[in-house]
Amino acid sequence: MLELDIHPSGRHFLQIPGPSPVPDRILRAMSLPTIDHRGPEFGALGLKVLAGIARVFQTQHPVVIYPASGTGAWEAALANTLSPGDAVLMYETGHFASLWKKMAERLGLEPEFIALPGTDESTGLPASWRRGVQADLIEQRLRQDTQHRIKAVCVVHNETSTGVTSRIADVRRAIDSAKHPALLMVDSISGLASADYRHDEWGVDVTVSGSQKGLMLPPGMSFNALSPKAMAASKTAKLPRSFWAWDEIVEMNRTGYWPYTPNTNLLYGLSESLDMLLGEGLPRVFARHQRWAEGVRAAVQAWGLPTQCADPEVHSPVLTGVITPKGVDADALRKLIHERFDLSLGTGLGKLKGRMFRIGHLGDCNDLTLMAALAGCEMGMKLAGIALAGSGVQAAMEFFGG
Ligand code: PLP
Repeated sequence: MLELDIHPSGRHFLQIPGPSPVPDRILRAMSLPTIDHRGPEFGALGLKVLAGIARVFQTQHPVVIYPASGTGAWEAALANTLSPGDAVLMYETGHFASLWKKMAERLGLEPEFIALPGTDESTGLPASWRRGVQADLIEQRLRQDTQHRIKAVCVVHNETSTGVTSRIADVRRAIDSAKHPALLMVDSISGLASADYRHDEWGVDVTVSGSQKGLMLPPGMSFNALSPKAMAASKTAKLPRSFWAWDEIVEMNRTGYWPYTPNTNLLYGLSESLDMLLGEGLPRVFARHQRWAEGVRAAVQAWGLPTQCADPEVHSPVLTGVITPKGVDADALRKLIHERFDLSLGTGLGKLKGRMFRIGHLGDCNDLTLMAALAGCEMGMKLAGIALAGSGVQAAMEFFGG
């Protein structure tokens, strides 16, 4: 018997902080026929996207592109630069920092997790998950490490589980002030191409990123941006690697090719994405995300709900975490909103499960799609019987219409 097609009419509102909505232009570009990845046309495509993606990372050095999700590029960063038993200093900003640390353990490294201690009195949530990296804690720890056992410092630039960013330039300064030789590795999986990010200027050795956030592509492609110091470290690093090894990829990339079969159609998508982002200009792209974030925060404030980020200086331009009132299960609320309005919101991850929902404001969205998403949240909260202080939709209309 034929199943009824029960797709709701209209576009689904994918308001999670990645995968983000993919523009039609990119979907169309990806629908072109797959070409020979050893042929001449492919080399031109490869050279174009490699040069373009380096501009997005703001680097003069190689960027390695993997046909893998961001998790693969996390592994590549560690496996190419470190040796079994190496000490790694990681900072607990949230769920993704915790997952990267778990990966480091599984790879045979010795990660040390540092964090702001304690919980916030008002919310009972971990203090460190509500604020960005405190670079002075990193500096203090590195100063104690007089034997230079710590080989790398790993931080997350835009913690997608919390909606908090971290100042990477401050982390660089902390490492330099401590006169410590550790590599600096940064996860900007959800920051790149939405939040300002400067690989070279901030002295980052490896930046990890992914396709499905600010680049507005489907999931399945990820990146390592390198520094000369990281490339030198890869010559002596002893962790086993083969598929992830930078050397052969960087070598073949010089002519626009890969040592294995690359994901050709995602590369078409990347080429289109780069045309869009670089055509608009990165400063405008960053400003657009900042503005969306401010409009969404105006709504959350009018509802009278706390944002998960407790430090206004480091609110994420990419997403906003909204803490639900005590006794309200944020996942039940998300389910109701999804069922009634066909709107997907991000779930609370790890220690935040059931305590918050996340509104993504990145990718193919604009003022009006955000207004609709905020209306979905507000209607859903009213249906769930949550007493709101005021109308977030009204506040956002004033912000976006002003
Ligand atoms: N790091 C951050 C900050 C992320 O947001 C994500 C995914 O959302 C990951 C790592 C893991 O990436 P992926 O799910 O693409 O493997």
